[in-house]
Amino acid sequence: MKTFCGRANPTTGAIEWLEEDENYDYHQEIARSRYADMLHDKDRNVKYYQGIRAAVSRVKERGEKAIVLDIGTGTGLLSMMAASAGADFCYAIEVFKPMANAAVKIVEKNGFRDKIKVINKHSTEVTVGPDGDMHCRANILVTELFDTELIGEGALPTYEHAHKYLVEEGCEAVPHRATVYVQLVESKRMWSWNKLFPVHVKAEDGEKIIVSPSDMENCPGVPSVCDIQLNQMPSSDFTILSDVVTMFSVDFSKPVSSASTYYRVQLEAVKSGKAQIVLSWWDIDMDPAGMINCTMAPYWAKSTSDFQWRDHWMQCVYFLPNEEPVLQGEAVYLTACRDAYSVWYTLQKAREGESKAGVRVESPVCRCQAHLLWNRPRFGQLNDQNRTHQYIKSLMKVLQTDSVCLCISDGSLLPVLAHYLGAKQFLKANNLEDKIKIIEARPELLTSSHLEDKKISVLIGEPFFTTSLLPWHNLYFWYARTAVTSHLTSDVTVLPQSASLHMMVVEFEDLWRIRSPCGICEGFDVQTMDDMIKNSLNFRESKEAEPHPLWEYPCKSLSDPQEVLTFDFRKTVPQHCVSTEGSVNLVRKGKSHGAVLWMEYNLAADISISTGLMQISNEKGNCEWNPHCKQAVYFFSSVIESETLSDLPSAVTYAINFDTKTGEIAMDFKL
Ligand code: SAH
Repeated sequence: MKTFCGRANPTTGAIEWLEEDENYDYHQEIARSRYADMLHDKDRNVKYYQGIRAAVSRVKERGEKAIVLDIGTGTGLLSMMAASAGADFCYAIEVFKPMANAAVKIVEKNGFRDKIKVINKHSTEVTVGPDGDMHCRANILVTELFDTELIGEGALPTYEHAHKYLVEEGCEAVPHRATVYVQLVESKRMWSWNKLFPVHVKAEDGEKIIVSPSDMENCPGVPSVCDIQLNQMPSSDFTILSDVVTMFSVDFSKPVSSASTYYRVQLEAVKSGKAQIVLSWWDIDMDPAGMINCTMAPYWAKSTSDFQWRDHWMQCVYFLPNEEPVLQGEAVYLTACRDAYSVWYTLQKAREGESKAGVRVESPVCRCQAHLLWNRPRFGQLNDQNRTHQYIKSLMKVLQTDSVCLCISDGSLLPVLAHYLGAKQFLKANNLEDKIKIIEARPELLTSSHLEDKKISVLIGEPFFTTSLLPWHNLYFWYARTAVTSHLTSDVTVLPQSASLHMMVVEFEDLWRIRSPCGICEGFDVQTMDDMIKNSLNFRESKEAEPHPLWEYPCKSLSDPQEVLTFDFRKTVPQHCVSTEGSVNLVRKGKSHGAVLWMEYNLAADISISTGLMQISNEKGNCEWNPHCKQAVYFFSSVIESETLSDLPSAVTYAINFDTKTGEIAMDFKL
């Protein structure tokens, strides 16, 4: 069956109807899933196996049959572990149909057909009884339903239901318990993802400061979790204000409640500073005694021997509603509120904290709109003074007192900057009064009356659009520029004047795992899963690049960066395709996992900004990436490895095609 899906093309802006195969979403979900990452997570797998063996033994020691309920079985891995550990029978529940089908195949291939029943249902639909899905309640409950925030994937309601209907009282649970830890910190870097800092503009008539309105200052922001690879945050980027403390824990072997609640701990500030951020992570004990522990603690809070890279579980950054000064030795109360799916934090000074009245149990709701318009990386980008300075310098080059400007970018501060820098008239496609007019129209629907019959002499954009996922989606600026051509003066200045696509071949320290086949996992053959992922990745004729914020994923450059395509914004989008072919020389030994692509914008003569590579920091080739942008990663289908430079293929050839009709960039690499 084919279905038509309507969407706005992120690059061209056109509304188009795409004929999608009904399996497209399935394939997307599998191709981009975290299954491979989980199967590569040795630490997790080993500890689950240990915990499951111990639980089966405890049940057997009591002289009972071991009946396992594995909720969210995925590949069937944990059920196969249980069956191998001597469980008498396993019910493996999986709601996602393609995964349930894969689990059936994997279970069969590994010879567990008689021991494991795969049930393709959501656990809350599972029935127990002689004619039910399960013949009896289970006495061992095994799950892996956790996300970085622990409860974001619905673990609590699932456990709540399972204890009521699917497992026996006093059952064994693997994991047995989860504990959430917190640490209070001050961090200008992380705080800049949540609040707009004053912007300093040096204009001819002195310095001006753009400040955010008070409703933005006091806005509690949005409740969505900010999950990052905290291990990539250097200790110089934050100041620790408290010890690591236990915020709350959940015992999975007892009935669990998903009802909203709060937990409170008293902290003593170990340093004076501004309490802004709560860093949080969790660990799970696979056994009641806590001997088998799997932790997400970041580098400064655990011994390095424990280290396991993983992307499916990271760490959380929570923003306090307001920054709060604390003095060394001072006692403060930290409150964690949670509903069934998310957690948020508030801080009270000791005295007010003594009463429960101060607890704000409702989750934060953005009142200022900014947190809805700007996501965390975008806040960080707008707060990047270096970046702002590049725009100011370029605006000063192109603006004249009689300039009529049009800005095309989402939620941009450029119009305000340009206004302070002296542009007389300012028209912007989205925000501010008086001197700045917001036009609520799509570029192709712009009329001369919107522009008060003036012609635009300066067209500017960052460019930035909230709909952009991949770096080249911001080429929408070029399409918009083309659509407004009739309103531009003949000698219009366009800023940026051009963009260029850059590419570099890299070796990832760890990110390669998320797309790498697993083969055998803890002795179980999961190749069916590998094949399924491969099939989904190849579902579209041409493989696609995927967006990743590379500051979180260290890599080493194996080739020099190369400019591969340029887009001249001074001209309109051409009718024909823009394509290029070439090769890049490999200059370092290593594994060529893939190519990274990013855009650079040439704002004005000699001033350009990169949304990708900032620099190659040493002779080993370690890369530094723009911390506010996602770069495009194209994983090669086969990895080439070389121990020495001499056995390296000397170059990687590429063919890249920009289809100006569809706005799509297709690429192919040969090693
Ligand atoms: N147990 C596997 C896979 C874990 S991923 C392993 O450890 O490797 C979690 C899986 O649980 C996903 O496949 C998801 O589709 C499924 N899932 C989540 N909640 C569920 C529920 N309540 N009922 C059934 N399946 C669920």
